[in-house]
Amino acid sequence: MKVLKFGGTSVGSSEGILNLLSIIRQEIQSGEKPVVVLSAMSGITNLLLKMTQDAAAGEDYEASMAKLKERHSAIVTEMLPNQLQEPVQAQLEEYFSEVDQLLSAIRSLKECTPRAHDLVISYGEKCSTLLISKIASQFFPEALFVESSDLIKTDSNFGNARVDTELTDQLVSTFYHSHKDKLLFITGFVASDMQRQITTLGRGGSDYTAAIVGAALNCQEIQIWTGVNGMMTADPKWVKKAFTLSDLSYNEAMEMSFFGAKVIYPPTMIPAFLKKIPIIIKNTLNPELAGTVISHSGGTSDLPIKGISSINKISVINLQGSGMVGRAGFSGKLFSLLAHEQISVIMITQSSSEHSITFAIKPEDAPRAKKLIEREFELELQAEKLEKPEIEEGLSVLAIVGENMKQTPGISGKLFSALGRNGVNVRAIAQGSSEHNISVIISQQDLAKALNAVHDAFFTDLKKTLNVFCLGTGNIGKTLFRQLLDHREFLQKHNGIQVKVIGVSNSRKMLFDLDGITLESWQQQLNEQGKPADLGLFISEMQSLNLPNCVFVDNTASPKPITYYEEIFSSNVSIVTSNKIGNSSSYSQYRLFKDTAHTHGVDFFYETNVGAGLPIVRTLQDLMMSGDRVLKIEAVLSGTISFIFNHFKGDVTFHDVVKMAQEKGYTEPDPRDDLNGTDFMRKMLILARDAGYALEAGDVQIENILPESCMHAQSVPEFYEELQKADDYFNKLKEQAEESGRALRFIGKLEDGKAEITLQMVDESHPFFVLSGSDNIISFTTERYKERPLVVKGPGAGAEVTAAGVFADIVNVGTH
Ligand code: ADP
Ligand code: ASP
Ligand code: MG
Repeated sequence: MKVLKFGGTSVGSSEGILNLLSIIRQEIQSGEKPVVVLSAMSGITNLLLKMTQDAAAGEDYEASMAKLKERHSAIVTEMLPNQLQEPVQAQLEEYFSEVDQLLSAIRSLKECTPRAHDLVISYGEKCSTLLISKIASQFFPEALFVESSDLIKTDSNFGNARVDTELTDQLVSTFYHSHKDKLLFITGFVASDMQRQITTLGRGGSDYTAAIVGAALNCQEIQIWTGVNGMMTADPKWVKKAFTLSDLSYNEAMEMSFFGAKVIYPPTMIPAFLKKIPIIIKNTLNPELAGTVISHSGGTSDLPIKGISSINKISVINLQGSGMVGRAGFSGKLFSLLAHEQISVIMITQSSSEHSITFAIKPEDAPRAKKLIEREFELELQAEKLEKPEIEEGLSVLAIVGENMKQTPGISGKLFSALGRNGVNVRAIAQGSSEHNISVIISQQDLAKALNAVHDAFFTDLKKTLNVFCLGTGNIGKTLFRQLLDHREFLQKHNGIQVKVIGVSNSRKMLFDLDGITLESWQQQLNEQGKPADLGLFISEMQSLNLPNCVFVDNTASPKPITYYEEIFSSNVSIVTSNKIGNSSSYSQYRLFKDTAHTHGVDFFYETNVGAGLPIVRTLQDLMMSGDRVLKIEAVLSGTISFIFNHFKGDVTFHDVVKMAQEKGYTEPDPRDDLNGTDFMRKMLILARDAGYALEAGDVQIENILPESCMHAQSVPEFYEELQKADDYFNKLKEQAEESGRALRFIGKLEDGKAEITLQMVDESHPFFVLSGSDNIISFTTERYKERPLVVKGPGAGAEVTAAGVFADIVNVGTH
């Protein structure tokens, strides 16, 4: 025989109830009648609680009363035939009027005793179970409504009563055996004490009722039917990528639920564990899914951790002082005091010097706990051997759980680096003595980010999400979006990476979408739904969203975003930039960016600052990191100048080649910005800095390609005029090169900490002789690559390859 428990969402709607009936029907058809335990309809216990609080405060509760009636009556009319509606409605009305009487007494007294409190909230289960047993009786005439208060006996600790197992087992078993022909529908959550006063088993306690009944009857399994697909790796409300765990040990389930996975109530595991009865958690709205099996053998799996749970709201009390040092039994006394007063302690950490104890409790218990401590340790406080206890609020607990943690080194490192990288400050840490969990206290504001970051860190194979904020929608930005779209599926399938563009801005408009901007139509959305662009607001919105694995992408050529880089790193966001300005301004700024990124454990990637998508920066950084020493770097790093000299052959004039380069989109709007070597200089500067030299822009010697007159021209057309006048000069250069079988190349060199860029004529034997189109080439001569330099060559300009480089940087975030 099985015990089937249906939770609030399963009994709270007609769809849920229909599924519940068909699940029961299948169970009966497969051989044996189950025993059914039911919760109150979803939201009803909270509603009843609110009503008692309102009444105790002397306030109205009528509107809530109307809601209570309406929720139940709606199901009566929807799911019962006319002739049954009246008697059921009448019985419900009787319950409602009992609740009303109780509440009006509470309102008169302006006080609600724990006893009255339990009595009021017990009506949630009473109403739902009566109603559903009557609906079920249309199909199963043997359905019987059973009040668990007749069967489950507890002490008089209202609100969280302790079960008298022996007596309860006896009562349940006797009742069951004398009603073997019936299909029992038992109220969950509710019990009674020895004086027959109604008690309750704690919030979420219907699960526990099912386990108590199941254990008393030695049932074959306990099924917990709820609104999610089982116990998941994290609460699906917070972590969209959480997935169902197929099996868990009792211990794991207990720890997950103790630390907040409310899909099952922690004490539920105890009776099941003692009787070795498996618990299965399944989704009423998705019954064909296997769900989660909790059993003795459930701990076996390869995953280092099983899941991550959290308690959203906790308070922490910190006790410190010399009075605690070496005083045997101080913590014993403290915690038995709290236990005696029914204050449950969620986690404890004690410093090794015994100088301080920090413990977490429910916020509603905190003021009481503080008072108790002040009373108990009055002498120590007076003698200043103990500091006044302080309550800290606004905190959460996050715990990782799993039996494999014991055997797997590096688990805590992974946890803390995921938190650290995302700027989540850890207030306290505790590892359970079972070593089945590590729990940390963090700020409530960081909880969503922390859960997602930790989930990504431990289940990386199962899709990492990068939350990206893109600035700039010019050629590179546009191409990047297209590439992200084209490669979306591939990335997810082969690399387990999902890139979500959460924000995008150009100089006119900005747009945010927490679910990720649809890349198929970003342009239209930005135009139609975008707000006026404001870089400061764009960045503060990114910060306040506080998302994990967050990346800021700068695809502008503007100095403005650079002024925010430090602040962005400081809020633990990585930066990927194709904008060279940041790294090529002052050395101190370059250093500041690197150091700030490093301090906050985030990435700063700028591969496209040099040679577009070619692996130049990363190659140099890898050489340096692995202890190699750069002796010399030689490079052609201006795609534009490369293009110009590669086409400056035969009859064409220099003027025409420059014009053609501009028409093909290879140059800046003013081609002098390329030809004066500034762009090349910036690249050489960045390389020199990455190679370990603290150079400034002025330290790079640049040979002028253009005659003075061209440089002085006031406008671009004027520049072209001047350039035409200089045709002779360039033709001579060309002829000279051609006659001697050499090629003109504008080459950058870094040697012994000195950087220069000069126009050279190289012969056939030079590796830079053969260079086509707008190709870049770079050769690294290092300690290791001394005889034959390491050469990287390929297309070094263009939106396509630059965007591809930005793309590669984005997906590399967090991987090193
Ligand atoms: P019921 O009403 O069926 O008893 P509960 O509301 O008590 O259901 O429990 C289900 C809820 O538990 C889900 O809505 C889910 O948000 C929450 N939950 C928290 N942690 C987890 C987890 N690790 N796996 C599944 N659900 C979880
Ligand atoms: N109805 C109770 C509650 O909301 C018990 C339960 O649903 O398990 O806490
Ligand atoms: Mg529940």
